[in-house]
Amino acid sequence: MKMKYPAITINKTKFKENLEIIHRKTTEANISVCAVTKGFCAMPELVKLYADIGFSEYGDSRLDNLLSINVPNSRKWMLRLPMISQAEETVRFSDISLNSEIETIRALGAEALKAGKHHKIVLAIEKGDLREGVMSEDAVVMAGEILTIDGIELLGIATNFNCFGGIIPDVDKLNELVRIAEEIEQIYGIRLGIISGGNSGSAYMIENGELPSRINNLRIGELILCGRETSYQRNLWELHTDIFTMQAEIVECKTKPSLPYGNVGLDAFGKTPLHVDKGLQERAIIAVGKQDVSMDYISPRDKELKILGGSSDHFIIDVTHSCRNYKVGDIVEFDLSYGGILNLFTSKYINKVIL
Ligand SMILES: *Cc1c(COP(=O)(O)O)cnc(C)c1O
Repeated sequence: MKMKYPAITINKTKFKENLEIIHRKTTEANISVCAVTKGFCAMPELVKLYADIGFSEYGDSRLDNLLSINVPNSRKWMLRLPMISQAEETVRFSDISLNSEIETIRALGAEALKAGKHHKIVLAIEKGDLREGVMSEDAVVMAGEILTIDGIELLGIATNFNCFGGIIPDVDKLNELVRIAEEIEQIYGIRLGIISGGNSGSAYMIENGELPSRINNLRIGELILCGRETSYQRNLWELHTDIFTMQAEIVECKTKPSLPYGNVGLDAFGKTPLHVDKGLQERAIIAVGKQDVSMDYISPRDKELKILGGSSDHFIIDVTHSCRNYKVGDIVEFDLSYGGILNLFTSKYINKVIL
């Protein structure tokens, strides 16, 4: 079959192996995993791989993605704080949502009652990264208020790291989270089913045996897709780091000067370009560009290649030093970081191919 470019390819064998390893390691550590699907827009063929391995909790930050997830006997988590304007859809498309605003939770409760069901809330607690969550000192009172809302069940509490502030989870911070949970349990005489200790950045603590025993859930996306925990960027458990590849086709390959000539103005994105004269270069132009993926997230598999720059529909690559003789029609392959996978899956111009 004729291949259509640009493409992102997914190595199914390696993907399954990563899923198996994460499932085994977290099960051994008594951690339930909320499998986070936003990195690949919850592509159904890939969600199926998770289901086959036995994952039963799925999380995404977009209702559109959650809507497309259809795994029997599973629960769906809305990970981004729900928009109050979408309370009805949130209750319809998810079983559990992370929340920090009492008005939103009231709206969810009202919609749940209308729909004749209960909606589960995981209260987001701020622990230093400073994205979503109530401040620790407000958590107990907030939990009490949640418990009074009809249609709502307080399932547990959660915290998040490694996102806005780049804060790394540690034993002290997770022990504080457990303390908050136990205070809520004591004061209101309940048992919280979920204490969720973060995302892929907390996985290193499983490996070190440092996760407090009452932390019983992590929400994991990137570690499965990229094979690295995100606190120290370490490869864990020999997970594959090369499941995803970007492939793009060369549409021009010529020897040209390295220094643009004429009166210098702005580049395609309104910036003043800075170029150094390196003499003549062998330059390839590929048919993929900044509209599809940020240059920061891609790196050529052929280590002798260098990305010189790009515009919305092209990247320009210095192929001078490669031992391969690139020509028009050749395919260039790139490794991808999490952001690159996310960009490419979001673009309708990219062919997504499971190998
Ligand atoms: C995206 C997201 C995650 C998953 O993060 P990874 O670093 O991909 O593991 C977990 N929790 C929340 C709230 C998220 O938004």
